[in-house]
Amino acid sequence: MRILVVEDESRVASFISKGLEGAGYVTEVAGDGSTALDSFRERGADLVLLDVGLPDIDGFSVLKEVRKIDQDTPVIMLTARGDVASRVQGLDLGADDYLPKPFDFDELVARIRAQLRHSGQSQAAVLQAGDLILDLKTRRAERGGRATDLTSREFALLEFLMRHEGQVLSRSQILGSVWGYSFDPQSNVVDVYVGYLRGKLDRAGENTIIETVRGGGYRLRVPA
Ligand code: CA
Repeated sequence: MRILVVEDESRVASFISKGLEGAGYVTEVAGDGSTALDSFRERGADLVLLDVGLPDIDGFSVLKEVRKIDQDTPVIMLTARGDVASRVQGLDLGADDYLPKPFDFDELVARIRAQLRHSGQSQAAVLQAGDLILDLKTRRAERGGRATDLTSREFALLEFLMRHEGQVLSRSQILGSVWGYSFDPQSNVVDVYVGYLRGKLDRAGENTIIETVRGGGYRLRVPA
């Protein structure tokens, strides 16, 4: 699950991001509204954590734009404590929840879990592409009835590929979504992990299910 953290105070952003990574989420931090919208347009998110006070466009305007792009992604607004007007405005504009600052980190994680439970993506128990099945609860992959254990990064990578089945995904899209914003874009970690997944999922004598697209990136081929 990937969370877009929109927060301009870098100390707060890094506190949230580190904590959420520790809780098993992949995060991307955007320090202003336009960066957040670029990221959301390009890569989407499973949930958006959105500060109201941002240096360029305010959180409400970001929320409006997010809702034009996608109506279902849960958005939790971070507001100043006691600021009832902001809270009401946020909920009117389609925020799913709000959390007054300063907040307790455990409460933030609990609110995030609750939102992800309600959203459609977390309800699907398995993803399927041809004879390839990914169980989102046990985090195991199965191909043609043969089950394979995955590490957490392998799981996140395969989930991302399966949710974009048939689409060409660039290395930087994959890196941003699976490893998060802070990773070195020159890293070959994507290629390494694609190799691990191929080793676990491909069958001898058949084409690989994760195609390399020349000059583009990777694409999950729908297995027969
Ligand atoms: Ca702020």
